[in-house]
Amino acid sequence: MRSFDKLFIGGKWVDPAGSGKIDVISPHTEEVIASVPDGTEADIDRAVAAARDAFDNGPWPRMTSEERCAVVQKFSDIYASRMTELAALITEEMGSPLFFSELAQAPSPWMMLTTFLRIANEDFHWEETRTGMLGEPVIVRREPVGVVGAVAPWNVPQFNVMNKLAPSLVTGCTIVIKPAPETPIDMNVVADWLVEAGVPEGVVSIVPGGPAVGEYLVRHAGIDKVSFTGSTAVGRKIGAICGEQLKRFSLELGGKSAAIILDDADLGAMMDDLKFASLMNNGQACIAQTRILASKGRYDEVVDAVGSMMSNLNTGDPNDRTTDIGPLVAKRQQERVEKYIALGQEEGARLVVGGNGRPAGIDRGWYVQPTLFAGNNDMQIAREEIFGPVLVVIPYEDEKDAIRIANDSEYGLAGSVWTKDADHAIDIARQVRTGTLAVNRYLMDFIAPFGGFKSSGMGREFGREGLEEYTEAKSIIPPF
Ligand code: NAD
Repeated sequence: MRSFDKLFIGGKWVDPAGSGKIDVISPHTEEVIASVPDGTEADIDRAVAAARDAFDNGPWPRMTSEERCAVVQKFSDIYASRMTELAALITEEMGSPLFFSELAQAPSPWMMLTTFLRIANEDFHWEETRTGMLGEPVIVRREPVGVVGAVAPWNVPQFNVMNKLAPSLVTGCTIVIKPAPETPIDMNVVADWLVEAGVPEGVVSIVPGGPAVGEYLVRHAGIDKVSFTGSTAVGRKIGAICGEQLKRFSLELGGKSAAIILDDADLGAMMDDLKFASLMNNGQACIAQTRILASKGRYDEVVDAVGSMMSNLNTGDPNDRTTDIGPLVAKRQQERVEKYIALGQEEGARLVVGGNGRPAGIDRGWYVQPTLFAGNNDMQIAREEIFGPVLVVIPYEDEKDAIRIANDSEYGLAGSVWTKDADHAIDIARQVRTGTLAVNRYLMDFIAPFGGFKSSGMGREFGREGLEEYTEAKSIIPPF
């Protein structure tokens, strides 16, 4: 049992303002495994004041990019040396299968850090001189946007904090992070690595808490930019607050992505990659390929192949490296997914694998049976984000119809095309209105922008475009 009594505010461990605690419950054993102080508005006030002072008066935004990147590089090196420990911690905290924690939960934040460092060092114009309308030299600068308020969900807890922390650090912003109450411990461990790397006081604060504390941070007058990852419903609310206050904001929200399987796809060869793309992190991934599109001619074959893959999933203890599917993060999430499984049957989808109830032989933990439906794109199970191991195979007439169905969604975050013909897949990818598409796999690349079309978000993370979101552009026009 890990017990934290202090909060990391202004780069130091300090006593919390309140006496409340957040208990972290293992999704596998349902036992309390850790507790942290429950952050309050007074803690947010202190954290924002420290971040404001560090931004307005401190060294961090005033260092050269090279000086800052040297500190971030140290942080990145420490991070790299501690990833095994971090992966095990995240599995303990939120039930991600250990193979996924070791492959993605822990290494991807580090890859993000190193990619942002590379962009800052090689591919970012902090200041450039352009030839103006009258031939005069015009200076165009990028300056840090200011104090960032970061609100993150629990599903990939380090990933979703690092995608805000890394660009803040690299650009010279200061940041107040509110992790999700389900996953408050991994960032507490990482906080010490920031101190070890020499990140100055005031630059980073971490205040775990629930929605009310999150909203207090978002509304805070001392915050210049809000970066939010979470549900579309909360994203709409945060966007409205920031719009009213004219704060900068970026929103990474939900998804219902389509995997378009073309007629020439080799189902046997692709099934492991489709398994990863659709069911990673127990299906609790915004980018999960949860709508599987198959032509009418191969529909039964695809349903059988995906069904066979799902019947053979190893569901159980997330600490076991051979586990494909672990427990969902919380009882509330288990109930939500079970409701969708019941709904799919009520609305006439054919249950191919799974169904309601616990997986056989598991009598505790927030597990659900991996479930496959054969359905259509009008069903709620095909339109709404379920956030669990539940997939639906949807038939299409021809490729034009497949693109239409892929686009017939409130969301537009990710997607994939599965075929032997990569050029043709890229042509199809160009026609799908979604932020990131991959061919014969699903992966994002931190050198490229990531984000949502439509209700999947506003703004972009990663790549040069993601770094720019943490800056303001300034133009300096010379005298005549
Ligand atoms: P959520 O929206 O309920 O909560 C996300 C975070 O916001 C939590 O820290 C929560 O405490 C906080 N919060 C809740 N209400 C708030 C409010 N009114 N003001 C400020 N903060 C508030 O989402 P969740 O259930 O924790 O996470 C799952 C969702 O996150 C899914 O919809 C998933 O698709 C999305 N997600 C998106 C991405 C992406 O990059 N697009 C990545 C991961 C997860």
